[in-house]
Amino acid sequence: MSTALLHRRFPALERTLPFARLGDGPTPVRELTGLTRNNLWCKDESGYGYGGWGGNKVRKLEWLLPEVRRRGASTIFTVGATGTNWGLAAAVYARDLGIDTVLALIDQPEDDHVREQLRRLRQSGATMHFTHSKPLTIAAAPWLLLRHTRGLKLPYYLPAGGSAPIGVLGYVETGLELAAQVAAGELPQPRHIVTAVGSGGTVAGLALGCALAGLQSQVLGVVVNDTLPLGVRDLVRLADRTATVLRERGAEFDVPPLRLTTTREYLGRGYGHPTPEAAAAARVAASAGLRLESVYTAKAFAAALAADLDGPVLFLNTYGPRE
Ligand SMILES: *Cc1c(COP(=O)(O)O)cnc(C)c1O
Repeated sequence: MSTALLHRRFPALERTLPFARLGDGPTPVRELTGLTRNNLWCKDESGYGYGGWGGNKVRKLEWLLPEVRRRGASTIFTVGATGTNWGLAAAVYARDLGIDTVLALIDQPEDDHVREQLRRLRQSGATMHFTHSKPLTIAAAPWLLLRHTRGLKLPYYLPAGGSAPIGVLGYVETGLELAAQVAAGELPQPRHIVTAVGSGGTVAGLALGCALAGLQSQVLGVVVNDTLPLGVRDLVRLADRTATVLRERGAEFDVPPLRLTTTREYLGRGYGHPTPEAAAAARVAASAGLRLESVYTAKAFAAALAADLDGPVLFLNTYGPRE
């Protein structure tokens, strides 16, 4: 399947919204059995991506990187924490398309996972600037942009997590993909879809995609980041901006109000800080063959295991490590 489902749904977008497939869809769905709750399913994005790094950021890059090229930029500039999966995926997949990546990195609690990510980032060929905090990053940004200007072309700026509306399209696409799997009988229609909220693009896109596809599922975003505004209103606004991109480029549609809620109950002390609930959830996941990490997916899985959610519950696994 080489065309995007979004292009099939809205043929006008084929000419106006370039797409580059970077992984094999649909990603697998399966029931997780023998755990502490029943009727729990997983859609596993961990294998998505052709090389270097997988997971949810690859879905965003499928739309972002062609747009960077369409604008004629040869460098992207983006931001993240020192363990950034986003910066790593951007660097790896951009390099394959001949695009350079410049990263401004802020501090996060350091552990083995973060050190390993920094090693991978160094290997990726990205240019890294350690700006330590958000205010210092904002202060340094103009200088960094000028310093990495090639010819007269400024680097193309991408926000944290790739959650610009064009990147969010990756999860609109995934919502359509999930609806097709439900229609094919691969899984029941989820009552709840549970996944992490880091920069918000994944849940915003998923909620919009589900609404477009007519799914009734309620998306529960498990907030794991306290450094960005990520309330329901912010996420709905991001989904609205994404719908606007589609309409501006030729798609015509109406959608019902998005079914999207969030919880901050699993955040702990903040972004990157481990919690005992997440550690326990990661052990449960491991017994079902799911490898989670402590920043995003283990916190989200802890919420998915909570007994007060009616099933079927679908956990969207967004983590995609490679050796
Ligand atoms: C970035 C990330 C998320 C969060 O996705 P957003 O679209 O930024 O909210 C979740 N899980 C993993 C593993 C990630 O790297």
